[in-house]
Amino acid sequence: TGCLYLVGTPIGNLEDMSVRALRILKEADIIAAEDTRNTKKLCNYFDIETPLISYHEHNLAVGGEKLLSMLHEGKTIALVSDAGLPCISDPGADIVEKAIAQNFPVVPVPGPNAAISALIASGLTPQPFFFYGFLNRGKKDRRQQLEQLKRRQETILLYEAPHRLKDTLKDMEAILGNRRVVLARELTKKFEEFLRGTLAEAVEWSQTQEIRGEFCIVLEGNSSAEEEDEHAKAYWETMSIIEHV
Ligand code: SAM
Repeated sequence: TGCLYLVGTPIGNLEDMSVRALRILKEADIIAAEDTRNTKKLCNYFDIETPLISYHEHNLAVGGEKLLSMLHEGKTIALVSDAGLPCISDPGADIVEKAIAQNFPVVPVPGPNAAISALIASGLTPQPFFFYGFLNRGKKDRRQQLEQLKRRQETILLYEAPHRLKDTLKDMEAILGNRRVVLARELTKKFEEFLRGTLAEAVEWSQTQEIRGEFCIVLEGNSSAEEEDEHAKAYWETMSIIEHV
């Protein structure tokens, strides 16, 4: 019977490819890849000869139907994204849902993930955490999303493109206030770097240079939210007492 494997691949360092991931990619009937050119390089490096087909966000419907019909034919499919775990700010969730609805086994093959790697070395409280992924590109939407994140007490994990980092950090400081932040840059790669400080410091840093490489943002949660809640509760209780007299 058909089976869908979700295979984690490196986020930079090829040595992070797991022994099991290699075996699954070699044994699968087909590898469904976000970008076949990109995955072809990985396959060449590891001598994987399994045929590739493309499954990306612009062909979810057509690509999904194709993958489902392959599962019905009894094929084993290994789904990979360009880096890290499929489905995590990457294509995959759609076909996972469809495969489950049709009772095909869906098997995770764990591997590297940028957000969790950033979190564990950030020095900020690792749990509870809240994974957000990418904020919206538009300034207005992004600000609205930050407003929604403002009261969260969990450590918050975000992805951001280098050319948007500067503006995003500025919006964060303006909306979330000056809390602690860690920028994890080029994880697992040669120029891996952690910038640990406050949002104000991060904004300042981002203004003094050209920002290059891949970044994860790890943000401290709202430490005063609970206190504010208590205040608000006490206030409303007083109000209701007043109403009842
Ligand atoms: N599926 C991936 C995962 O499991 O981590 C995430 C894919 S998402 C499209 C790409 C974003 O992840 C980048 O814009 C960056 O924010 C983050 N990222 C990926 N690789 C990274 C790395 N080596 N160092 C820091 N951030 C990285």
